[in-house]
Amino acid sequence: MKSALWYPYQQHKTSSEPFEVDSAEGCKLHIKDGRILIDGISSWWCTIHGYNHPKLNNAITEQLSKMGHVMLGGLTHKPAKDLADKLVEITPDGLNHVFFSDSGSVGMEVAMKLALQYFHNKGHVNKKKFIALKKGYHGDTCGVISIGDPDDGMHASFAGVFPKQFFVSVTSEKIDPEKWPLEEKIEELESIIGQNHREIAAMAVEPLMQGAGGFNFYPAEYLNRAYQLCQKYNILMIFDEIATGFGRTGTLFAANQCNFTPDILVLGKALTAGYSGHAATLTTGDVYDAFYSEKCEHAFMHGPTFMGNPLACAVALEGIKLFECDDYMAKIKAINHHLSSVLLPFKHTLVKNCRVLGATGVIEFHAPLNSKKVKDFAAEKGVWLRPFGNILYTTPPYIISQEELAQVLAVMTDLLNHIT
Ligand SMILES: *Cc1c(COP(=O)(O)O)cnc(C)c1O
Repeated sequence: MKSALWYPYQQHKTSSEPFEVDSAEGCKLHIKDGRILIDGISSWWCTIHGYNHPKLNNAITEQLSKMGHVMLGGLTHKPAKDLADKLVEITPDGLNHVFFSDSGSVGMEVAMKLALQYFHNKGHVNKKKFIALKKGYHGDTCGVISIGDPDDGMHASFAGVFPKQFFVSVTSEKIDPEKWPLEEKIEELESIIGQNHREIAAMAVEPLMQGAGGFNFYPAEYLNRAYQLCQKYNILMIFDEIATGFGRTGTLFAANQCNFTPDILVLGKALTAGYSGHAATLTTGDVYDAFYSEKCEHAFMHGPTFMGNPLACAVALEGIKLFECDDYMAKIKAINHHLSSVLLPFKHTLVKNCRVLGATGVIEFHAPLNSKKVKDFAAEKGVWLRPFGNILYTTPPYIISQEELAQVLAVMTDLLNHIT
């Protein structure tokens, strides 16, 4: 398929036509051909309130009647200030400053630059590297590719182009948290940090759950121990909570399951509920203070044109209000219960394992799935799913009804009887 519109992660020559969506409402996508599909993956995990939400629509149109945009250089506005205050309030204690940007990837680029300049401003000029996780994903821009999975085919064409970083693994065949090889993994980390800490500015992780790298789960205790090592060796800890933030792992933030506050935490995706691209990079006072001085050159020289966009901030504020007022944590608990009851007992010769964390349910197969067949079978049954490799997952909108979720899960578990 050749087209003017260039699609993401797609080989146009061999891929099929995407479904054209006319409108969407609640958890449902209305396809142009008349089909209605339940979105089992929240449009890449961001539309946690579903589509076309009257309160979110209202918040954005009300803001639109005042102004759609204004630059944040030399000017400011209430939606940006209020959102920064709100994010400081709801994130773990100690994260007191917020830098906005226009996408998750850029939010992570900001985190990396902050970590590098933090040490530069303090005179530690050799700390220029990062330690990150194999199978990690932090976005598609050039800086963050360097801390994404080093063996990932997705970025293979750029191998050797970007700086080489340090990597450790958090994946294991033993997915049961009790059996997960904590000591072995910490030893691996300690050995690399011990030898290279003079060069390492920060450790960057997707806490508790790696998303695009295969929905790998690992325990909070690993992060607690990793943070102790970071403290010992003067390394900052960056939590990429672009996917895990806003309840996806069962607590408001994955950081809430750890016994420390990371130095830098990045939010995106669900932050603006899918209405607009935006991200927030939060830091502790310690990080902020390294930039706060009489010297011009200590300032953070970064400023996306659309940072703090008023429409994005207004919709984010309303989304957080909904999350709090409608007790989303209870909805997440109910989703977790439902996912666990169906997926955890599920067995099949082609299935390697099933796992659930918060409002995320995963079936891992022994071999890659035919994604077109999965997509077509799911659509026939009224569901939108998009597997990657041997992973089929659901990250439903939190407003999904029991019946809708049952329909998504029926497709996931019934699939093997139809497409193999
Ligand atoms: C999606 C994602 C990103 C990138 O966000 P974009 O808004 O697509 O740039 C970064 N990190 C994680 C963990 C993500 O899931």
